[in-house]
Amino acid sequence: MTTRLTFLGAAGTVTGSRNLLETRDRKWLIDCGLFQGRKDLRLKNWEPFPIDPAELDAVLLTHAHIDHSGWLPKLCATGYEGPVYASPATVELCGVLLPDTAHLQEEEARWANKRGYSRHKPALPLFSTPDAERCLRQFQPVQFGDHLALTEDVRAEFRDTGHILGAGFLDLKAQRINGSRKLVFSGDIGRPVDPLLRAPSQAYNVDYLVLESTYGNRLHDDTNPVDDLVRVINESHQRGGVLVIPAFAVGRTQTLLFILRELEQKGVIPPLRVFVDSPMALEALQIHNRRIADFNLQARKLHLAGVDLFKTGKLKLCPKREDSMAVNGVESGAIILSASGMAAGGRILHHLMERLPDERNTILFIGYQAEGTRGRQIQDGKESIRMFGTDVPVRAKVESISGFSGHADYLELMAWLLGFNRAPRRVFLTHGEPEAAHSLKQKIEQQFGWDVTVPAQGDSYILDF
Ligand SMILES: [Zn+2]
Repeated sequence: MTTRLTFLGAAGTVTGSRNLLETRDRKWLIDCGLFQGRKDLRLKNWEPFPIDPAELDAVLLTHAHIDHSGWLPKLCATGYEGPVYASPATVELCGVLLPDTAHLQEEEARWANKRGYSRHKPALPLFSTPDAERCLRQFQPVQFGDHLALTEDVRAEFRDTGHILGAGFLDLKAQRINGSRKLVFSGDIGRPVDPLLRAPSQAYNVDYLVLESTYGNRLHDDTNPVDDLVRVINESHQRGGVLVIPAFAVGRTQTLLFILRELEQKGVIPPLRVFVDSPMALEALQIHNRRIADFNLQARKLHLAGVDLFKTGKLKLCPKREDSMAVNGVESGAIILSASGMAAGGRILHHLMERLPDERNTILFIGYQAEGTRGRQIQDGKESIRMFGTDVPVRAKVESISGFSGHADYLELMAWLLGFNRAPRRVFLTHGEPEAAHSLKQKIEQQFGWDVTVPAQGDSYILDF
């Protein structure tokens, strides 16, 4: 049967993942991400959906990250009333992330009105908190490995990819008169070995593959990032100050807590007070604690042995603003984990304001710092940073560790493909900057001789699916 696949986002860029799949009588959307980063990309969030959202029969989500899920409230607010299928952990994480995204949109509109810099008067948010809450009611959890019948002859299945909690690839199988066809959307593929999550599951008998290419031209450092972390923590402790780690609230913070607990138990770092100061990180932490079944065997074995996976010896959670402010009184022997990960906003700002001017303190970046963010400015060695209307001098020691990525590099992606039992008819590379996608295309063609396409935004292809 002829089916049309259209790339509505994450084509030549890493955000706004949206794939429209149309058969003779059905329309499905795979991922519904927000465009982020450059202004020309962000403006795409305001463009109307190319078809009437009410015509869609189902939305299927590979994982909770905003660049895959963050446009859903808008889709639902503009007429989509059908089901949103996702793994149970993805459903729970979206319950935290989507209202937060709405809140940020509302804040932005409020600022634009206050400063008068919007062309629209008054400036409106892309969507509101009630929009996000309404769309959450359309979510329906689908367990990994369960077969969800989308029609009489097409079934969907999520299989885990170890990228973040609940992340999975989508495996669609159609039963046709002349045999079956399989179409796989990779979502984001994780690393082969993660402290907490399982290695990516293997896909088989794939006819068409839509594959991410974030690290299509890069390899992760060979050195173990945990060794660097041990050094930074010990050096920071010896200087007598406090270690501040800006970290993404969902995923990165929990993995870091897991690693810190382990390092403490091995006795390679001293038992320090660890403050987790981000309301969203605390909600995500509860979700992680409920989803032990989604972890790898090693982590589940520890759980069975009675280990509280994310609890360091002197863990302090800071749900309230007063808890957060009280951390300012701590002079030494502490680690502060706070969001946002790029110091673009959130409680991390007041910690940086407090800690940056003192040379005994250390600021550690463990995630990618986008151009233009305060995180990037500090990382680049700027002598002072503008915050809350004042120039804050940077005297604290600044460190960066890059190896904690949640994305497979190109060798790890190729190793995943090597596990396919036969050549797909066609591979589409999405979710990568043009250079990364084209570099991966070349490597797959050379290694496997497969037919690889890098689609542009809005491109459509007819598949025999
Ligand atoms: Zn992701």
